[in-house]
Amino acid sequence: MTPGSKTVSETPFDDLAMAVSCHEPLSHHTWLGIGGTAAFFCEPVDVEALGRLVKRCHERGVPLRVIGGGSNILVPASGFPGMVVRLSAPAFSAIDVQRPAILAGAGAKLVHLVSAAVQAGLSGLETLVGVPGTVGGALVGNAEGHGGDIGGRVRVVRIMLPSGVVEERSGARLAFRSRWSNLDDGIVIGCRLELDEENPAQLTKRMQKEWIVERAEQPSGTRSVAMMFKDPLGTTAESLVAQAGARDLRVGEATVYAAHANYVVAHPGCSSDDVRGLVEAVRARVRERLGVELTPQIEMW
Ligand SMILES: Cc1cc2nc3c(=O)[nH]c(=O)nc-3n(C[C@H](O)[C@H](O)[C@H](O)COP(=O)(O)OP(=O)(O)OC[C@H]3O[C@@H](n4cnc5c(N)ncnc54)[C@H](O)[C@@H]3O)c2cc1C
Repeated sequence: MTPGSKTVSETPFDDLAMAVSCHEPLSHHTWLGIGGTAAFFCEPVDVEALGRLVKRCHERGVPLRVIGGGSNILVPASGFPGMVVRLSAPAFSAIDVQRPAILAGAGAKLVHLVSAAVQAGLSGLETLVGVPGTVGGALVGNAEGHGGDIGGRVRVVRIMLPSGVVEERSGARLAFRSRWSNLDDGIVIGCRLELDEENPAQLTKRMQKEWIVERAEQPSGTRSVAMMFKDPLGTTAESLVAQAGARDLRVGEATVYAAHANYVVAHPGCSSDDVRGLVEAVRARVRERLGVELTPQIEMW
């Protein structure tokens, strides 16, 4: 470079010395494998790098979102016009057993956390067996299984604010309700969960039972289905969809899952618009026939 010449900055992140990709297909990172691109995409190596990135987005007015396992997100074909961050680096996925507590990184897979707890003979998370996604996604949406949610076991959450500052929240500063938490104002980095000591063999048996019940009722493992609605108080979204006669609805290549009416199936060639259209069509049918307004579980970006 000649003295006095200026480096042309192509993105707001060029001087941060981290790998930021442009036009990243988010279909590579969503559970259903559909959706458009992110203008910018980054997988920071550690908390310090994440802090620099978050601060830069904040300063430059670049909208920022986090993607975990992408199992509860529907990205439109037009994509996301900002920065999408994924906490896939080892610095964010550690699981550290400190009985009867466990420290877990937000990027760890929920299934790894559940099995680490069960192997260590620590109970309280086994109801979450079969829930796809990451610890971060589970905390933000307060993931729940039969008879328990993750929020009931969380004692401390580390969260990065848009300024890049990391704070620890505990006690009254943490709120978890059905499929909801107050962790929507930053990037969750990790948490401390308090569990109960239990005989590992008994616990493993109990988890296997949970797994069988879960598998019988829910399509876990298949990448072509996603959950449509939150269960309203006192009933299930599944039963309302069935009662409203919405099981046979189809929009493009999206249909209602035959074995469980609260899931959408994305058939080959299915688009985000098809899925969104089906969720809206089912919701309208339930509203018309039963007068109940269902709340979507899957988050539309
Ligand atoms: C087959 C199937 C079965 C399911 N069964 C259940 C079930 O039994 N119980 C249940 O509760 N849910 C269930 N879900 C829904 C989904 O799996 C959960 O909501 C899950 O916890 C989402 O985690 P994720 O990492 O995939 O989050 P994502 O879908 O990636 O993200 C969800 C939201 O969390 C935010 N987020 C993710 N990570 C962070 C972070 N580190 N910091 C800040 N925000 C973050 C995202 O920005 C987004 O707003 C199911 C989904 C499928 C597809």
